[in-house]
Amino acid sequence: MRVFLSSDLEGAAGIVDWDQCRPGGGRAYEVGCRLLLGEVNAAIEGAIAGGATSILVNDSHGAMANLPPDEIAGSAEYLSGQHKPLYMMEGLDAGFDAVMFVASHTYNPRAIWEVRLGGHVVGESGINALVATSFGVPIVFLSGDQVACSEARRFLPGCELVTVKESVTRFAGRSLHPTDARALIADGAERAMRRLGAGLGGSPSPGAGSAGAGSAGAGSAAALSLPLVEDSPCLEIDWLTADMAELACSIAGVERTGARTVEISELEPLACYRAFVATIAITRSIVES
Ligand SMILES: [Zn+2]
Repeated sequence: MRVFLSSDLEGAAGIVDWDQCRPGGGRAYEVGCRLLLGEVNAAIEGAIAGGATSILVNDSHGAMANLPPDEIAGSAEYLSGQHKPLYMMEGLDAGFDAVMFVASHTYNPRAIWEVRLGGHVVGESGINALVATSFGVPIVFLSGDQVACSEARRFLPGCELVTVKESVTRFAGRSLHPTDARALIADGAERAMRRLGAGLGGSPSPGAGSAGAGSAGAGSAAALSLPLVEDSPCLEIDWLTADMAELACSIAGVERTGARTVEISELEPLACYRAFVATIAITRSIVES
């Protein structure tokens, strides 16, 4: 079974501020990368124990080169570097059997306030689901904080969700010890692959639905299936400023619906995702100015 693993950074246990997430953060960034590597490798090892035969890791955070390639477990391929057309989902195609997200959170918080899919607030998992749906690949595993897990629950039926920390404020969180986080991630990834191997189904694990850091288990009693995304999804984006919303409307298919809000609708899921990625790219000029 072929696994596509998209790694972010903000959602890893122990990560709470920007210095841990940016190369300019010095030692704090080194620690952040080490924490991420531990979680990515735990997911890889769990996936392999559950039946995965090949894994592609798509580094999706910042400059998208946060992992030491020679320390990635499981002989995984590593897709790194910036300006990937499909961003967090670059490299996915219909030949994969499963998608996993590690250290999940949300897209560019320096430009976006909130994103809604079909009227419901989504993090990156819900947005990335547009691509997984297009290629017909189920999202079977996600790790992150309690918010990332609860946002995923609505769109990813049966997905194994592992909460490694509780957000307290925007820049504070209560994390599991990384060793415990990695153990839960490995267990969750293995369980996801076993359920997938058993035929896109299986029972939710004990602990399903429990709350708090350290909870692990299927996101719902539903069997694993493709993300719940409509054929013509409606994606709404609230930007931090009105000029970001204005600039985003330069992209075909993006329409202004409020002072800081735009809507992407009437596109099939992959085109909707591409338009969303284009809005992020084009508004970057304002973020960085
Ligand atoms: Zn990130």
